[in-house]
Amino acid sequence: MELIDTHSHLFVEEFSEDLPEVIARAKEVGISRIYMPNIDCSTVDSLLRVSKQYAGYCYPLIGLHPTSVNETYLDELNRLKALLEEVSFPVVGIGEVGLDLYWDRTFRKEQEAAFREQIAWALSYDLPLVIHSRNAFDELYSIMCDYQNLPLRGIFHSFTGSQEEAEKLLTFEYFMLGINGVLTFKKSTLPETLQRIPIERIVLETDSPYLAPVPCRGKRNESSYLKHTLARMAEVYGTTPENVSQKTTENALKVFKKGKIMA
Ligand SMILES: [Zn+2]
Repeated sequence: MELIDTHSHLFVEEFSEDLPEVIARAKEVGISRIYMPNIDCSTVDSLLRVSKQYAGYCYPLIGLHPTSVNETYLDELNRLKALLEEVSFPVVGIGEVGLDLYWDRTFRKEQEAAFREQIAWALSYDLPLVIHSRNAFDELYSIMCDYQNLPLRGIFHSFTGSQEEAEKLLTFEYFMLGINGVLTFKKSTLPETLQRIPIERIVLETDSPYLAPVPCRGKRNESSYLKHTLARMAEVYGTTPENVSQKTTENALKVFKKGKIMA
């Protein structure tokens, strides 16, 4: 069985003590690749270090997370953009980017500007986008609609929205919905919503160290816990874990495939 964790922040401090064990456990459950979206300039060094240490297994994305957007965002963007030109550092995507109006709306305008700038990077470097949206669905959807006819691909990460929201996002033909441990939470409405979402549009993710699935809820999340989300997803789709792993692995590889948009 082959699984891909499309969203894991294994380079953050929470993993500084035992990353080799975390990676070994991920391999044990069949995870073949881990994609690591950046957060901001302060995390780039460790992102780089982990990507080099686990080259061919942990893949780096570069981007400025919306909760890190503040008055210095233009500076941060310039420094991050320079990394896309670095040939010794093979960046596989732009992320994570988007809008987060949950914690703070102060830099709403700046968040939008940073998001649009990074969409432009995805287009000019032909890289997938990993998009974060929290308490900002309408704003995010309306920005994305400006790019509806452009060759963008990527993942709407940590999707937990309604059926109507899923339908709107699925109109972006080359985007997948990233599903994580939230699916296993008792009060989650995702099992119902997923009934209307074809498995061809789903990728799995952990968002480690956050959002650990049941039965690990509340603990530090890690890539190997993807197996719990996988098991729940198989139940929801009425199929086998093997089938879900195969489909979602194909989907993830489509998004991160080098070169122009897949047919
Ligand atoms: Zn994340």
